[in-house]
Amino acid sequence: MTVEEKAEICSGASWWKTAAIDRLEIPEIMMSDGPHGLRTQPDDADHLGINESIKAICFPTASATACSWDRNLLNKMGEALGEEAQTEGVHILLGPGVNIKRSPLCGRNFEYFSEDPLLASELATEFVKGVQSLGVGTSLKHFAANNQEHRRLTVDAQIDERTLREIYLSAFEKVVKEAQPWTVMCAYNKVNGTHASEHKRLLTDILKEEWGHQGFVVSDWGAVNYRDKGIAAGLELEMPSSHGDGKKAIIDAVEAGNLSEDSLNRAAERVLKIVFKAIENETDYLNYNKDQHHKLAREIAADSMVLLKNKNQILPLSEKESLGVVGAFAKKPRFQGGGSSHINPYQIDKAYEEINKFIEGELPYAEGYSLESDQDDAKLIASAKELAEKVEKVIIFAGLPDRYESEGYDRDTLAIPPNQNRLIEEILEVNKNVVVVLSNGSPITMPWLDKVKGVLEGYLAGQAGGGAVADILFGHVNPSGKLAETFPQKLSDNPSYLFFPGEKDTVEYREGIFVGYRYYDSKKVEPLFPFGYGLSYTDFEYSDLKLMKQEITDKETLNLRLKVKNTGEIYGKEVIQLYVSDPESTVIKPAKELKEFAKIELEPGQEKIVEFELDKRAFAYYNTEIDDWYVESGDYEILIGASSRDIRLVETVKVKSTVELPNQYTINTNIGDITANPEGQKYFNQLLSEYLKGSELMERLENRDDEMLEAMLKYMPLRSLAMFSEGVVSREEIEEMVDKLNKNL
Ligand code: BGC
Repeated sequence: MTVEEKAEICSGASWWKTAAIDRLEIPEIMMSDGPHGLRTQPDDADHLGINESIKAICFPTASATACSWDRNLLNKMGEALGEEAQTEGVHILLGPGVNIKRSPLCGRNFEYFSEDPLLASELATEFVKGVQSLGVGTSLKHFAANNQEHRRLTVDAQIDERTLREIYLSAFEKVVKEAQPWTVMCAYNKVNGTHASEHKRLLTDILKEEWGHQGFVVSDWGAVNYRDKGIAAGLELEMPSSHGDGKKAIIDAVEAGNLSEDSLNRAAERVLKIVFKAIENETDYLNYNKDQHHKLAREIAADSMVLLKNKNQILPLSEKESLGVVGAFAKKPRFQGGGSSHINPYQIDKAYEEINKFIEGELPYAEGYSLESDQDDAKLIASAKELAEKVEKVIIFAGLPDRYESEGYDRDTLAIPPNQNRLIEEILEVNKNVVVVLSNGSPITMPWLDKVKGVLEGYLAGQAGGGAVADILFGHVNPSGKLAETFPQKLSDNPSYLFFPGEKDTVEYREGIFVGYRYYDSKKVEPLFPFGYGLSYTDFEYSDLKLMKQEITDKETLNLRLKVKNTGEIYGKEVIQLYVSDPESTVIKPAKELKEFAKIELEPGQEKIVEFELDKRAFAYYNTEIDDWYVESGDYEILIGASSRDIRLVETVKVKSTVELPNQYTINTNIGDITANPEGQKYFNQLLSEYLKGSELMERLENRDDEMLEAMLKYMPLRSLAMFSEGVVSREEIEEMVDKLNKNL
């Protein structure tokens, strides 16, 4: 290939296609958004969901599917999307998005899974495997640290290394290592001063070399800053077409000797490998079963919705009750978000109609508020109240209108429109049996929470969301979703609050690793609803947690099991969550962190054994001294919970590190840091008797139980021993002690 041809292969040919080179019989391939349905645009293309796309199934958004905590479900959804992509001639689906929900205000949170990297990566891994099992590629996005829409093309996300590794990169890491997404999409923003599209450390050192990514990196649409720098850093494909600019920049840079031809070769080779893989994997699905996919979308939505409140068992409803439905969303559902993920759905289930199907006669309905305005409408409220007075139970549909959250901008409040809050309060004046059904892509505040009896969080549940709501309200599906993010009581409780969205083009992630529940739990801030929370129409009992070993090294795995029983009257599914806590840590750590989870189904009275296996990563933190994951020796608690705030079983395991930290001891090492563990204490005592023999200090240490002296020594550096022993140990001898400590401990 000529330099020109290679540069062409690395430059998008149009909005959605790579370049074809006839001379070499290199075909083009086609990409489409993503992530929860196909936004395939034959003409009039754009990356913001403005122009029409072909009709497709709109599956629930990640805000919803994350709450399923169901790996199989995500895999099935991926397979369905893979089938659709094959049908429509799409080779790469632009998703999933695994950016962490740092702030509930991020306008695009509805496209992302969680505030927790483990949950996000586990679900995304299955999604990717599902899509790719059909011979269609995915694009894991947006790499990395794209956690806000505000100034997304220019903002510099400044993040310390440990936080980057533990929170923001680890959501990507597992997906890359386990599912090998054919492509990874680089983010628009800068990370620690460098554009993600030119970030060699992220795109090459970490993604390709450390994690072993085999495919190519594609730019987010328009994320390229300087094209030649991108190639050198490991950004193989620019999208969309830059009308020759990118290609020219590459050719000029090679000719001027500013970009090595080797780098260009590597980039072109990576793109071509995927192009040919995509073509080889083309199948001739002529169609997919739209009804079946719609049905699957309904199942996924129902298994994702989270029952937040169910006072006096107001739910499930019975078909015989007198019911009324209030709220514009019941007839004009909000089931997806704005921007590049906006699907043109085949069919839209309206909750009103779906509920009506389960009851006899015409279901009373009142609009209650206008979706176009935030202002109260006295007439709409009055007729809703009139309705509410006449029925036994009122189902109010509320949430965030389209204009409140979208790609491209962030929210500035957690509140839903004031006219909706007002409507709920007014209805409560005439009827106490109120269930609120929510449609929103991220957390909201609920000033009326104490007064309503039921709350069902439906998130943005896709085109079949209306049917799924009806299934849950009437108990045809027992709710099993659990929150994949914390709902704070108020915005200012959120850990990023003081630093979001930053100053001009800089956002500092000053809360560090304390994102979501990692913060709320450690700081003991009471949330509105905690991470991992969700109710069921049945009850589950947890028992018999058994660790297979009491002690392991960081090279071994820990197997454990417990029993879960459905003690209620009906079939249900339960999400069992495993958190690890390190109460003795010498580094700052969150109170606990999610390290495993499982979703199981149980008939009434049935009991199952749930098994987990934990490896080194479950106990490790990212140690920046050694640039690697490191487990501190000590006791760790295994917490099994039904939510992050409902821990049912606890056991302790001892984990021993097999890794030595380099140059651990210096003359400035505090004595307490040496004596923190029994082995250190023993060896240090040995050194003291060797060097301080006969001194007054030694005598005091040996003969008296001197708490004050011990406390003082704890935070005294080794070098102070010279002064403290009044010259019995010399500086030279202290240096000798340091050498011995480094050799022997
Ligand atoms: C979005 C991407 C999307 C791309 C193509 C961008 O605006 O950030 O997520 O895949 O457009 O539509």
